[in-house]
Amino acid sequence: MNKSSKNKPSKESIELAILNGIEAYRREQQQGPEKSNKSINKSTKNTARGTLKEPAGRDPRKSSAAAAGKGQRGQKTQKAQKSIAAVSAKSQRGTAGDAARGQRNTAKGQRDTAKGTRVPVKSEQAPRPRGGKHAKKPVKILFFGGVGEIGKNMTAVEYGNDIIVIDAGIIFPTEDMPGIDLVFPEITYLTTNRHKIRGVFLTHGHEDHIGGVPYLMKELEPSTPVYGTKLTLALVDNKLREHRMSANLITVSPKDRIKAGGFAVNIVNVNHSIAGATALAIETPYGIIFHSGDFKIDLTPVAGKPIDLEEIAEYGRRGVLLYLGESTNIERPGFTMSEKVVGTTLAHLFAEHANRRIIIATFASNVHRLQQIIDIAATYRRKVALSGRSMLSVVEAAAKIGEISIPEGILVDVEKLKNYYDREIVIVSTGSQGEPMSALTRMAAGEFNKVTIGANDTIIISASPIPGNERMIYRVINNLMKRGAEVVYESLEKIHVSGHACQEEHKLMHTLLRPKFFIPVHGEYRHLRRHVLLAQELGMQPYRTFIPDIGTCVEVTDEEMREGPSFPAGARLIDGSGFEDMGTSEVMKDRLRMSSEGVFIAALTLQGGRVVGDVTVECRGFVFADEREQSDAIRELKVVAVRAAENTAGGKEEIEGAVRRAIKNYLFKTTKQSPMIIPIIHEL
Ligand SMILES: [Zn+2]
Ligand SMILES: [Zn+2]
Repeated sequence: MNKSSKNKPSKESIELAILNGIEAYRREQQQGPEKSNKSINKSTKNTARGTLKEPAGRDPRKSSAAAAGKGQRGQKTQKAQKSIAAVSAKSQRGTAGDAARGQRNTAKGQRDTAKGTRVPVKSEQAPRPRGGKHAKKPVKILFFGGVGEIGKNMTAVEYGNDIIVIDAGIIFPTEDMPGIDLVFPEITYLTTNRHKIRGVFLTHGHEDHIGGVPYLMKELEPSTPVYGTKLTLALVDNKLREHRMSANLITVSPKDRIKAGGFAVNIVNVNHSIAGATALAIETPYGIIFHSGDFKIDLTPVAGKPIDLEEIAEYGRRGVLLYLGESTNIERPGFTMSEKVVGTTLAHLFAEHANRRIIIATFASNVHRLQQIIDIAATYRRKVALSGRSMLSVVEAAAKIGEISIPEGILVDVEKLKNYYDREIVIVSTGSQGEPMSALTRMAAGEFNKVTIGANDTIIISASPIPGNERMIYRVINNLMKRGAEVVYESLEKIHVSGHACQEEHKLMHTLLRPKFFIPVHGEYRHLRRHVLLAQELGMQPYRTFIPDIGTCVEVTDEEMREGPSFPAGARLIDGSGFEDMGTSEVMKDRLRMSSEGVFIAALTLQGGRVVGDVTVECRGFVFADEREQSDAIRELKVVAVRAAENTAGGKEEIEGAVRRAIKNYLFKTTKQSPMIIPIIHEL
């Protein structure tokens, strides 16, 4: 696509873009692949940060065409090394926080504890491509999930003998998976290559990114490090404990740089609807692969820092090989509102409903939202009662690590609500998605004995429906209203903001990163496609983009990106502690057949080839026209079963097969239905 006037970016994005060197980006994009990605604005950067010690002439790219050009930026022969070395230097920049984390950093050998000193450690040299000049071994990106769907995000990056895994998410089952608790990616490839896995990097603590960690770690070496920020790992730890497991969890913070085999992974702070969300800048032999994680740009976050645009721009200036960018809200124009907006709306609702009891349903994991609710409750002298298991466990985990601060005495037990007037209480509850077992759903149905909904209740649903949940949520809202309560939900007030970037934020991200190649992730096909179009609007040529599917392997070098051989991938359906492979699952076929057509059980006893005693035929979930038809059919089926059993030579299995076929044929002939049939044969 051409940069025609109809694709003119908005005024804001142009302003931001100019600030961050969009002109250079455009120039490079127009010059084509050979010369792109070379804007390494290091001379000023490096002087500002002091001298870097660099081994000369060891970069295999130094003589390649790709390394040529842009002489005005100077010192071109060593630029690739510098680009990565400069990142190391950056990660060594001392700050108070860094000093505080010094102990851990020293242990990792990645950063000097003393403020401001920059001593490149040998292990920090740029990972270099192996295999000689002629055989350019590509870096592989393997998509296990999260593309073509929103959920079960999981990607691996492989080079030579090293693999790193990014996220291990789950997705909740759809209606065609009866009895399934959750769905996790098929990971045979990782299991087979477990000796190569140098680390699992978790971008943040949402279920679609960490929900599958126990299932992944069951199949990897127990010593495999699992990296994440404090809250992410606190939530992972809860999960592992539920599975009675432990893992090698290593807490990281933004600006940390972690060596993982031939890779080095830099942790980058981003904003999202959960605390401790990060992007990853992965140093590979061919340059940086930047994975956005889930992000939005919130310049006034409730807690923590705004997304680190400076660092992101820095990577862009040095050259990003490949950008893996999330695409959830790519269809929405403009910018996502700041989380602060929710606080403003809530404060005004508290003022307006001063004499009423307030019940707020929200996601337990959005601790910044919980923080706002608690702060506003404190201002309005209300006590806070937490309701719902996940609400309690997340708040406990977040409070333990200081991610949420709870004023002394503000929390009250939901059991003790009777001791307070309505105006003194805020109940914070799970169930913002209308989940059947959640506290709010049970309150709405009058089945939650701790809280009885009435006319003096104001219920605020501080969430938006995840697609597919609308019916359940509106049922809850209707039920609450029938009980006389007032319900405030998203279409009425600004009581929820998304955690994902909208179009203008994506434009900014692309503009800052100026990637050579781009692959959209975290979205259904329509989102991924839309994201590619957005990249093209910004000047990226279509051949530098790729839309992956689950099971796709993309191979990338500094010269090209292409689709590699696919690998076994798909979905595992987790039911209790066992799992089934979607597609080949007999269990699932059985359950679907039982749920749509019912089940027949025929039990009989054989002695010397003859049926003895009573024959039992029972059916469940099978619809007959009336009772008479049913009793006639069952009588007939007993005859059919006996005939089939007595006329079949062979073992138990053959006889079972014959009985099954006979019943099936009879039912199909008489009713045109094909239920599941279970023959039970006893031999005396
Ligand atoms: Zn998320
Ligand atoms: Zn996500």
